[in-house]
Amino acid sequence: MTTETFESRPFEADVSRLLHMMVHSVYSDRDVFLRELISNAADACEKLRYEAITLPELLGADAGLAITLSADPEAGTLTIADSGMSMSRDEMIEALGTIARSGTRSFIDRIASAESQGSGKEGAQLIGQFGVGFYSAFMVAAKVDVVSRRAGSDEAWLWSSDGKGEFSVAPVALDAAPARGTRVVLHLTDDAKSYAERWTLERIVKEQSGHVPVPIRFIEKPGADAAALSDGAALWTRAKSEITAQEYTDFYRSVAGQYDEPALTVHFRAEGRH
Ligand code: ADP
Repeated sequence: MTTETFESRPFEADVSRLLHMMVHSVYSDRDVFLRELISNAADACEKLRYEAITLPELLGADAGLAITLSADPEAGTLTIADSGMSMSRDEMIEALGTIARSGTRSFIDRIASAESQGSGKEGAQLIGQFGVGFYSAFMVAAKVDVVSRRAGSDEAWLWSSDGKGEFSVAPVALDAAPARGTRVVLHLTDDAKSYAERWTLERIVKEQSGHVPVPIRFIEKPGADAAALSDGAALWTRAKSEITAQEYTDFYRSVAGQYDEPALTVHFRAEGRH
């Protein structure tokens, strides 16, 4: 590794402020971090699926799109990997070092006011609504490593941070990177080690990510076989007669970021052309 390619950079000021809040105030419902990371992984898969319509070579030899959660209870890590579009070095610096949205300040202000009124739950919902989801990883992780290999690229990059003001970016050997996609490795804090346990992950995926249109697999410990957690059959692709009321409710809650019951469910199908 040369010094020209290894770089350490400060987070944008708003990111630092947000990270501080994530860790110190929005503490009540940490489960949301997984929904946010799975949703980013699913978006990256959908993006590749879409781009590959015109550029099939992006898929290379492996057309499979999947999200894999791998736990390593001994090392205290949880890895969320996807075989989606991923990010180049510059995209990673931009996407994971800044907040591109003007709503951030109002997000921070709303969290602060929710907190001062003792309503941490609202804070957790706000995370999803304002699209600052990735940073919620720092609610459960002392360090986050992101290894990326963008579809069609022969470079891989490692983004790493402890969430305390700085992140680093460095090249990674291809054999230490996914063949395609993004691998987010969470080094769990001592009080978040349960996020490397099967039943916790199963419960959260079922509650929050069952509707994700990409299959989700789970590897319980290094070397174990992958087991299916969710089949990636989105609710709207399934027959109405197969869907239970609970599934509609879970879907509503995960899309809306709400915890209440849907007022009404309507099932219909529309056809379109790309
Ligand atoms: P949002 O998803 O609402 O844009 P996030 O903070 O969750 O906000 O993510 C910031 C950005 O980082 C995303 O918009 C995306 O560009 C990039 N990103 C995060 N995770 C991934 C991933 N697994 N694959 C590709 N890009 C990702």
